[in-house]
Amino acid sequence: MSARVLILGGTAEARALAQQLDAAGVPAVSSLAGRVARPRLPAGEVRIGGFGGPEALARWLEAERIAAVVDATHPFAQRISASATEATADAHVPLLRLERLGWSAGDGDRWHWVDDLSAAAAALAQLGARRVLLTTGRQGLAAFAGDGDRWYLIRCVDPPEVALPPHHEVLLDRGPYTLDGERALIAEHDIDVVVTKDSGGPLTDAKLAAARERGLPVVVVRRPPRGAVATVRTVAEAAAWAERHTSG
Ligand code: NAP
Repeated sequence: MSARVLILGGTAEARALAQQLDAAGVPAVSSLAGRVARPRLPAGEVRIGGFGGPEALARWLEAERIAAVVDATHPFAQRISASATEATADAHVPLLRLERLGWSAGDGDRWHWVDDLSAAAAALAQLGARRVLLTTGRQGLAAFAGDGDRWYLIRCVDPPEVALPPHHEVLLDRGPYTLDGERALIAEHDIDVVVTKDSGGPLTDAKLAAARERGLPVVVVRRPPRGAVATVRTVAEAAAWAERHTSG
């Protein structure tokens, strides 16, 4: 077994990196949490499911002869990143974080930054929202479950398995989303506030442009804080780093 790169995935960037390494003949294995029922599978070797915490991940890295780890997980996936930091230090394996830039407001945007989903729920009351497009994914929806004052259009990839607010509709979809599609969705459901995480990237940013056009407020959940890890913003930089750590 030759030394391989582990890509911690679940993002478009992780899939693009797997594709590039596969095309370049760099040995790599992608890891997915197994949360999504029908995941978009990356190119090359894939494993699915948690490792069982940082110590188990460290042993896995050694057993699988992993030469380097690229943590390309979502900006809001905190536990796996913390686990990767601890495990790579323990197993003496280099770690790189691949993280897309967050979004920033431009002219005409009416964004309200909050620290977490509970604060997002509180912000909706302050904004006098009536009909909310909630795009924060199915984890953490419990923060909105007690709100009987508003109607929610809850968009997520798989059906939520937690309590939901009494007045809602669930829309199962996974993007990427177009500006025309987001305009139509907002108009059809008479949405007056959009809620999003600061996921960043172009695949899900059309809702921000659609909200701007309509003059709607957007509640944006800030990224959680992260430890200091060497970080790159582009797939090309991560691919070059991975190649360096597997050659020779
Ligand atoms: P999380 O809270 O950081 O992780 C929870 C546990 O799931 C981890 O401790 C780990 O289990 C396992 N896990 C997470 N990502 C994994 C991976 N790529 N490979 C193997 N095990 C993984 O993560 P999350 O927020 O639930 O996100 C789960 C996955 O969905 C991530 O891969 C992330 O990139 C993707 N995703 C998340 C979001 C989001 O908003 N959070 C959005 C889009 C995509 P063990 O401790 O047992 O190893």
